Amino acid sequence: MIAVLKHGVSESQAENLINWIKAQDVDVHLSEGQYQTVIGLIGDTTKIDIDLLASLEIIESVTRISEPFKSANRKFHPDDTVVDINGIKVGGGNFQIIAGPCSIESPEQITEVARAVKEAGATLLRGGAFKPRTSPYDFQGLKGEGLELLLHAKEQTGMPIVTEIMNANHLPMFEHVDVIQVGARNMQNFELLKELGRTKKVILLKRGLANTMKELLMSAEYIMAGGNENIILCERGVRTFETYTRNTLDLAAVPMLKELTHLPVVVDPSHATGLSRLVKPMSLAAAACGADGLMIEVHNNPQKALCDGAQSLTPEQFRDVVSAVNKIRAVVKEL
Ligand code: PEP
Ligand code: MN
Repeated sequence: MIAVLKHGVSESQAENLINWIKAQDVDVHLSEGQYQTVIGLIGDTTKIDIDLLASLEIIESVTRISEPFKSANRKFHPDDTVVDINGIKVGGGNFQIIAGPCSIESPEQITEVARAVKEAGATLLRGGAFKPRTSPYDFQGLKGEGLELLLHAKEQTGMPIVTEIMNANHLPMFEHVDVIQVGARNMQNFELLKELGRTKKVILLKRGLANTMKELLMSAEYIMAGGNENIILCERGVRTFETYTRNTLDLAAVPMLKELTHLPVVVDPSHATGLSRLVKPMSLAAAACGADGLMIEVHNNPQKALCDGAQSLTPEQFRDVVSAVNKIRAVVKEL
């Protein structure tokens, strides 16, 4: 971090500032020019409040040189992290497809979809039991009963399962869940993130509706700071002025995040577009731009789905997407 002092700052003012910085365990490199004095802050500057520093009367400007995320930063961990979910690897060249319904609705529905997506090439099964719905009058998920049905589908198919947590108090119920999803609406639920940081569970962390990549990485940092490094990031579109699509899929976030972090990045084209017919082209684009996987909503009868039917693929459509994605991946590998 570099702080430039205003012209005319007295020696004692500068000294006070330097003492304040040093008191926070940060070293200082002073460079006094003819017109300007520049202070270089050296060491772990994460505890320095950059806004507070910038607001001081004697400060002209403050620039952060290193990013505020440390554990997630590729600079300190150049190799890709490979997340291992019961032998199914994500990241470092390992690509996985997570598929299943938006929400678990009945024993028949989840087992039928689970079998179909497995046969079509999905390697992980998704399904929401606790649903974060915008309206309190909409279907909220089957909750504990839904989790039981998902665990049963896991037993039947052998597929690891991914499901969303909304309340840290529910963690004991997630004991046999392989991947715990933190949904877009909870990306900055810091108390939940801290709790998940104390576990060793694989966490699928979705980008918030209106969050920057840096904020996503800081949320990952919350989990990592607690000692849990098993994180998969998920780009699921952000809110923009556009209304034809449910969200705007920020595909540039994939290569950008992969430059900034060693964590795997997957793409959810279902929530990103809200339209089943856009899921295939966006899946292909995600595979082409370096994503480590996809998460796709599939329903055995999308028209009757209790949640997100418009963006859900039928098992047949899903099979077609998987085969096209595999072709794209083969081409990308050659490039
Ligand atoms: C979901 O994956 O079911 C979901 C609710 O997604 P998001 O949090 O991205 O809206
Ligand atoms: Mn959904």
